[in-house]
Amino acid sequence: MYQYSKTISREIETDVLVVGAGSAGFGAAVAAARNGAKTLIIEKGSEMGGMATTGLVGPFMTCFDDDAKEQVVKGIFDELCLRMEEKGGAIHPSKVEGMTTYSSYYIKSHCHVTPFVSEVLAITMEEMLLESGAEILYQTNVIDVIAENRRIEKVVVAMKEGLATIKAKYVIDCTGDADIASEAGFEMTIGSEKDGVMQPTSLFFEVGNIDREAFVGELESKISRLGIPGANCWSWYIEEAKENGDWHLERNEIGNYEQPIKNRWKINATRIPYIDATKSKDITKALIEGRKQVQEVLSFMRKYVPGCENIELIQVASCLGVRETRRIAGEYSLTAEDILAQKHFEDAICTFAYAIDIHNSEGGGATFKQVNHYYNIPYRCLLPQKTKNLIVAGRSISGTSEAAASYRVIPCCIATGEAAGTAAAMALNENLTPAKIDAGKLQKQLIKQGAVIKDL
Ligand SMILES: Cc1cc2nc3c(=O)[nH]c(=O)nc-3n(C[C@H](O)[C@H](O)[C@H](O)COP(=O)(O)OP(=O)(O)OC[C@H]3O[C@@H](n4cnc5c(N)ncnc54)[C@H](O)[C@@H]3O)c2cc1C
Repeated sequence: MYQYSKTISREIETDVLVVGAGSAGFGAAVAAARNGAKTLIIEKGSEMGGMATTGLVGPFMTCFDDDAKEQVVKGIFDELCLRMEEKGGAIHPSKVEGMTTYSSYYIKSHCHVTPFVSEVLAITMEEMLLESGAEILYQTNVIDVIAENRRIEKVVVAMKEGLATIKAKYVIDCTGDADIASEAGFEMTIGSEKDGVMQPTSLFFEVGNIDREAFVGELESKISRLGIPGANCWSWYIEEAKENGDWHLERNEIGNYEQPIKNRWKINATRIPYIDATKSKDITKALIEGRKQVQEVLSFMRKYVPGCENIELIQVASCLGVRETRRIAGEYSLTAEDILAQKHFEDAICTFAYAIDIHNSEGGGATFKQVNHYYNIPYRCLLPQKTKNLIVAGRSISGTSEAAASYRVIPCCIATGEAAGTAAAMALNENLTPAKIDAGKLQKQLIKQGAVIKDL
């Protein structure tokens, strides 16, 4: 134990502070600023997008209902897709079908995904953020939280120039790991309710120089010959590689997603289980193992996959792909049963329909449960219990591990972010705690902004 004290002379003040500039933070900050709040977003890295940029994750999973008929996530998410498409950095989800190179030949929950280029995403998010009037500070990491009686008074940040405090009337935790809520002492769960185990981590990478004609031709002829609907891409090559001792990964399928840019593919193939990504030592171990696995996958592709003989590594994600860590214990906790039963919520703030997608820690596979048409998320899932001024958005909102396996994906994180930012601005205007704002008024405002909330 070592006690340390220091006077911090730098202080920044804002109305709404958003911590973490990933998908949720982007939605939250743009919405708060557009609704008139003086908004600051801080990010420990150097670009916006979080998992979708530094983590190289993509495409955006489906924003349509499970019948692939109606787009159920719009609002800021849709604006972002259209803006990226204008720059040649995305294809609007309405134009993207399942069973194509953009969906890795999957079909379930993979119709109407959004292929995008991570660099264009970072640029577009930043443009939209600055246009909204919000300010951003990169290279600013929250290292402590000063909270009393469930109110966040200040956060302590490490900046390039040293420590500073940020005083805000409302704080939105979009760190993905609920760092702010956790540090402030709010209750939470981590990983699965049964044993605390979290879904495995992965490290995305991108390749180029695929002979597209050979690759796609071989893949499509195999798929039609084997009659696999929504192929477990490349599983047949992996079996062969395993027999030859060329495959040691705990995974028997590979996601390969073509991007809207010539000859660039995102590869989701690595799997590093039993990692607690709230701990630096575990993150380090996973990054090192992930980079080893990237090399094994590359060798495998070059040796076994037609069209990939001369593939080149373009980049490896610079941050670990983390599917699951902490979730807040909120005023309501969404369950898989709620999702599957399409439970009605008076305070619904968004609609979503991606499957409950749980990657196994052992044995290589995944459990994939499709939802019935779509489901709604209540506002209370964004509110830590008895919160005075903290709202949470993104993958760490309140729900069971199973429920989070659906709502953790990007379109939904942007939608919960938009709801959180709009709610914070409303609470600020009316000088209320987030739980006291009128949910009906919040819904009306979200719909005015273009968001979809089904069955109100
Ligand atoms: C391997 C993998 C594959 C996936 N595949 C898909 C897919 O194909 N499609 C899809 O839609 N979704 C996919 N997902 C899910 C999705 O990418 C994430 O769940 C989602 O992006 C999370 O968004 P977020 O805003 O909640 O968090 P993040 O994107 O993680 O953003 C959090 C941000 O907060 C910052 N931050 C954290 N702590 C601090 C701090 N203390 N101070 C300052 N800043 C901080 C981080 O740097 C980061 O920028 C995948 C996830 C993984 C891991």
